[in-house]
This record gives sequence, C-alpha cells and structure tokens, in this order.
Amino acid sequence: MVKIDGKTMTCGLLGNPVEHTMSPAIHNTLAELQGHSLVYVPFLVDHGKLGQAVAGARALHIKGLNVTVPYKTEVMQYVKELDPLAQQIGAVNTLVETEEGYKGYNTDMPGLYRAMVSEGIRIEEEKVIVLGAGGAARAVCFLLAFHKAKQVYLLNRTVDKAQKIAEEVNGFLGKELVVSMALQDYDRLPDEKMLAIQATSVGLAPHDDEVVIDEPAFYEKVHTGYDLIYRPLETKFMKCVKAAGGAAYHGLKMLLYQGIIAYELWNHVFVSEEQAEVVYEAMKEAMGI
Ligand code: NAP
Repeated sequence: MVKIDGKTMTCGLLGNPVEHTMSPAIHNTLAELQGHSLVYVPFLVDHGKLGQAVAGARALHIKGLNVTVPYKTEVMQYVKELDPLAQQIGAVNTLVETEEGYKGYNTDMPGLYRAMVSEGIRIEEEKVIVLGAGGAARAVCFLLAFHKAKQVYLLNRTVDKAQKIAEEVNGFLGKELVVSMALQDYDRLPDEKMLAIQATSVGLAPHDDEVVIDEPAFYEKVHTGYDLIYRPLETKFMKCVKAAGGAAYHGLKMLLYQGIIAYELWNHVFVSEEQAEVVYEAMKEAMGI
C-alpha cells in the first residue's frame, strides 16, 4: 500500500465513462512495485469540459494523465507539445507534465507492439490483414508501416473509410503498403496464411457471439489472430482462428503495455518483464478472472 503524504504524486485518467477502467490496477500496482509515492485515480470528465479538466489538472500539478474514449482526438488541442508518433496517428492517450504544459503521446500503438513482441508475433516483412477502419485500425496501419510490414490488407464494412486510411498511410510512406478492400472480398486475399489483427468493435461484450467475418474460408488464411478486444477474453474471432488451426490472442496485454509505457514516461523508469507479469495478474484480478 502506497503511503500518502505531502510528496505523493497524482496521476489519473480523463474519460467518459471511466467506471470500468482497469488503469488504476495497472498504475497503483506499478507504484507499489517501483516504490513510488504515487496514486492513480479515474476522473469522469463531463462532455464539453475537457479543456477545463486539462487546465485544472495542470494547475494541480497532476504529473501524468491517460486519456480515453471519447477524448483521444479532442485532447490534442489542449496540449503544449505533441510527440511525432501521436501527431501521425492523430490520437493522444497519455499526457506528461512538462514545465510549459502537457506533452501528448500515444502509447496504445507502442503498447500493441510490445504486447506482440512479448507473444513472439512478428510484423517486420510480414503480410498482415487488418479488420476495421476506425481510430484503432488507422493507428494499427501506421504501426505496421513504422515496423516495415511487407503488405497490409485493410478490410472494412465501409470501404471508403479503409480507402482513406490507405491513402494516408501510403502517402506518408511514398509506397503502396495498404490495400483497401470490402469485408466480403476476403476471397481476393492471397492464398497464404497471414497475421490478422481484429480492430473492429464487433464481438465486444455483451455481443460475444458476433464476428465481423464468419466464413471458415477466411480463417484458412490466418496463422495468427490478434483481437484488440479484451472483454471477453476469448472473442468469437479468436475462436474462429483457433478452429482453423491458428494461434489467437486477446487485447489485454496491449492494455497492459500501453499503461506500462505511460508509467515509464511519467516516472523516467523502466518496467521489467517480471514486473509486467505482476501487473498483468493484478489486472486479471480486477477483471474478476
Ligand atoms: P471505432 O473508431 O468506433 O471503429 C469501429 C470499427 O468497427 C469500424 O471499422 C466499424 O466499421 C466497425 N464496425 C462496427 N460495427 C460493425 C458491424 N456491425 N459490422 C462490421 N463492422 C463494424 O472504434 P475504435 O476506437 O477503432 O476501436 C475498435 C476496437 O478496438 C474497440 O473494440 C476497442 O475496444 C478496441 N481497442 C482496444 C484497445 C486495447 O488496449 N486493447 C485500445 C484501443 C481500442 P464501419 O467503418 O463500417 O462503421
């Protein structure tokens, strides 16, 4: 248990809603493991009050903040400085206090990368299927570009949105990395097994039985499936991947590592894999599993 005194640092989460967040379990466990006098609390920010919340946090010397739905884009206008990766992705989920104001970072994508590395999943030189074209899928496509994936097939219900992301990423890279497609056109994918990242909101609890593509023929093209969803811990997408003989992972480790990277930025420390394991167990306990 952290001893609270006059030197205790405060960190927290800005979002709406915040009551189901697992971030306090991540950061308060890290504070204990690292021996820091730091407490992390969720802050419910009413709609239209984000600017006031950030200014208030700054006035109170809140050391670091996470930002969640629906404020990851809006918060960009309230930071003093933006990390280049966050600027490219167009979303900020972490604020770090500096002398001038907050600096905005995106730790979701480095978090996903660290989670994949910890599971032994490779991106470099790989052909990758991405399902979805929302904020998370867009960020995943930039991550795949940064880590030199060989080809990205971006499948979405609304093809225009996939096309827009493809144009942005390809324009940034100066080459045709991302190919946009409609979901039902999966049979035009190359006849080989690939990594598939599920970045739609389909299958999120309580809709556990839903999946964006139901046909077994699609899963014949998947050797590894990574679902960004972590509620439930085994999604229908993961079940489909496994039924076709592939390996499947949920998004809880992505959440773990985005938190760990934020904590490292706030405190200028490194969190070891052993400590990450302890935090992961605390998260599962907080989830009741
Ligand atoms: P978003 O911007 O709202 O995008 C939602 C995506 O899901 C769009 O591609 C949308 O397709 C698709 N979709 C929704 N309903 C559909 C349906 N009935 N049929 C087909 N496609 C459908 O959401 P987001 O912010 O990108 O987040 C996506 C998921 O990632 C969420 O479930 C979130 O929980 C997860 N996530 C996890 C982490 C983590 O730490 N593990 C971090 C971030 C996000 P259209 O474009 O056609 O509407």
